Amino acid sequence: MSLASLELDGHIGVIRIDNPPVNALNNALRAALVSILEGARHNAAIEALVLTCAGRTFIAGADISEFGQPPQRPTTIDVIAAIEQMGKPVVAALFGTPMGGGFEVALGCHFRVAAPGTRVALPEIKLGLMPGAGGTQRLPRLAGMEKALAMILSGDPIDAKDALASGIVDEVADGDITAAAVAFARRAVAEKRPLTLARDRDEKLAALKRNPSQFEALAAKASRRLGGPVAPARALQSLRDAVALPVQAALERERASFLELVESEESRAQRHIFFAEREAAKVPDLREVKPPDVKRAAVIGAGTMGSGIAMCFANAGIPVTIIENAQEALARGLATMEKNYQASAARGGLAKEDIARRLGLIHPATDLTAVADADIIVEAVFEDMGIKHEVFSALDRLAKPGAVLATNTSYLDVNAIAATTGRPDAVVGMHFFSPANVMRLLEVVRGTKTSPQALATAVRIGRKIGKAPVVVGVCHGFVGNRMHRIRSVETERILLEGALPREIDAAMTGFGFAMGPLAVSDLAGLDIGWRMRKAEGFSAPIADQLCEMGRFGQKTGRGFYLYEPGSRTPRPDPEVDALIVATAKKLEVERHPFEPKDLVERLLFPMVNEGARILDEGIAQRAGDIDVIWVYGYGFPSWRGGPMHYANTLGLNYVSDRLKQFAAQAGDSRHEPAPLLTKLAAEGKGFT
Ligand code: NAD
Repeated sequence: MSLASLELDGHIGVIRIDNPPVNALNNALRAALVSILEGARHNAAIEALVLTCAGRTFIAGADISEFGQPPQRPTTIDVIAAIEQMGKPVVAALFGTPMGGGFEVALGCHFRVAAPGTRVALPEIKLGLMPGAGGTQRLPRLAGMEKALAMILSGDPIDAKDALASGIVDEVADGDITAAAVAFARRAVAEKRPLTLARDRDEKLAALKRNPSQFEALAAKASRRLGGPVAPARALQSLRDAVALPVQAALERERASFLELVESEESRAQRHIFFAEREAAKVPDLREVKPPDVKRAAVIGAGTMGSGIAMCFANAGIPVTIIENAQEALARGLATMEKNYQASAARGGLAKEDIARRLGLIHPATDLTAVADADIIVEAVFEDMGIKHEVFSALDRLAKPGAVLATNTSYLDVNAIAATTGRPDAVVGMHFFSPANVMRLLEVVRGTKTSPQALATAVRIGRKIGKAPVVVGVCHGFVGNRMHRIRSVETERILLEGALPREIDAAMTGFGFAMGPLAVSDLAGLDIGWRMRKAEGFSAPIADQLCEMGRFGQKTGRGFYLYEPGSRTPRPDPEVDALIVATAKKLEVERHPFEPKDLVERLLFPMVNEGARILDEGIAQRAGDIDVIWVYGYGFPSWRGGPMHYANTLGLNYVSDRLKQFAAQAGDSRHEPAPLLTKLAAEGKGFT
């Protein structure tokens, strides 16, 4: 099968790419395109060309599996050069999701016609990269610098209407997009439209070129929340070059930066997470299972989690019944959901009709019999085994045969919950993270008796509602919270040994976390962990005392930090510092100063060690699964690739040696390197 073909429609040559599933611009396709373009250039019967695709989208990007390999010619730049040297109009017929290299090819064409639902983007920054085939030079020339900064630094797509308004596309056309592009090409020929290339159009940059200092003001306004320290800075530099350098020089610098980023640790880490997320939902023995469609869902409990989970279903267009045992709690839950929708509308993310449609899909009820027609039921009631038992034995009676019975428990034993029903095969954990309508992570917990069908249904619906499902096994806290607990124990320990809350948090934000662990505890509420520790009979000397003082975190204005009324900014509290020092003295722990690097290692390496145990026990299938959990559920910086990937980059020998040092200093066994870590370190291997 040829990846691209040329057909004549009168005097218009139609180049059709056919490289399923998304017409990725791989080595073979680029070669085919350059050869067709060369032929078309010399074909006097062709007056203009249309570049279009078969399938569901115009070229959706490069083939990112080729990123790790040396670039092969012809490159995307060669394809674009062949278009720009054509000497006759080339019109791109855009539909679906022309992104990355695909969108850059379109930017190299003389004209662009788009179907109404088209979404274009330069998403490279999300993989720790930047556009490498002219995107940073052609986009600002077509759309202006402000738009280009926003698109390239966020990586987010814009729709066809927006692309038309900003000058990126020349026309939005209904109906057959290839036919519309052919008609456009005929008009371009008939009207003898000038063939001005995007790279030569300087009108939109003229003001900036006269006054380059304005660039910094625009750049400061553009969001830069994504990625590590290098890629966004390089992308920004390349956009600055669009103003400061002749276009050819700027294009060459862009390419050099791109090639350097491909080799960077930062991009390797982000690509690892990208592929790990795809892998995480795959379970070897589920390959043959065809899960049924979920047409209706039910959520039990309209508290913090239940409300968010119900919103996830409604957002995906799935009708959902939300059940509370009391009218008052139900009303509170509904009010929360409405408030959340209004807030996203206020941020411009949602139209009024969308809110109404989504709320219309949420059906409130106060009687468990309302679960009868649900294909999946997610329980999100209090974290109390007695109450979970009650709910699940009722579900056993009321749910229809074949329904999946899911629990959102954070710590309780999914097998014990399953055992309260006559259909343990239907029971699975679906562990969402707070706020459930925002956080992408979903731990799908496979019980001993969970059927492949139930598990596959939970994974599939997880994807459908926009989550990153990761299949894990049953243990206390599953993967994420089990490792989180290790970090919490270590945090308390380090406070006693000499660090202050702000030093720990500064070290972790310095590493790349958006918030430090103690600021996060204050945000989540210290009372939650306190209650749990009391129930489970263990203690955290500092956090327990803070709770006894009524310092529950942000909600009480005081926790590890102080908060001004109405403010979320943590301020150090001398009272807490004194409490820490006094407690260390009482417990006879000698205090000493810590370097930020030591703090990071003391907090992360024990987690990695626990991750190794989790792998050994088969609770997680792959190291990459653990990384996805930490990046999507706990704010681990994606450009560090997750804890296990980060450990690989340091070398497991180093990690293992440091753990041995911690063990010797602590004089207890909690830091002894796990057998799997020891083995891999000795073999000079990594976790994958
Ligand atoms: P919550 O207290 O906010 O909400 C629980 C809701 O369940 C309350 O509204 C309560 O009225 C309702 N409820 C209790 N018994 C019920 C019954 N028999 N029938 C119907 N409704 C009933 O608690 P939450 O934070 O939403 O936690 C719910 C579950 O999710 C727990 O298992 C928790 O461990 C888990 N979880 C919580 C978080 C989090 O960050 N809050 C994160 C992940 C998982």
